Amino acid sequence: MNSTDGKLQGSCHCGSVRFQVRLSDGLKTARRCNCSYCRMRGAIAVSAALQDIEITSGEELLTLYQFHTMQAKHYFCSKCGIYTHHQRRSKPDQFGINVACLEGISPFDFEEVAVNEGRLHPKDKSAGGGPDIAGYLRFFPNTAP
Ligand SMILES: [Zn+2]
Repeated sequence: MNSTDGKLQGSCHCGSVRFQVRLSDGLKTARRCNCSYCRMRGAIAVSAALQDIEITSGEELLTLYQFHTMQAKHYFCSKCGIYTHHQRRSKPDQFGINVACLEGISPFDFEEVAVNEGRLHPKDKSAGGGPDIAGYLRFFPNTAP
């Protein structure tokens, strides 16, 4: 893992978009989400404060996608289509960062990843209206010879 000063390097698949990020709580915040968008996107995201990400190249190639309440901002590379980060609707002071874009980190490093209940957004449900975690996804490495 290439990190200087707690910063991780990240990039999209084609390498046009590059960024540096300091995560708010390391990889402990790793989550997936089952909302209508994330269930298709399928990425594991970790959290960072808005000021802790710096796009170092290719910012002009980032495309913004918004839907429904238009509050969350989902960014992806317009060349290779890879999601890099998004500004959350639930916590607008945070970005979710695609762990698969981070240097030295693989989505398959995680044995278990919690899935946020995003079908009914926390901001759309009444207090105490159901669990925040929908379930857990597990990865078992194939140990067959
Ligand atoms: Zn790209």
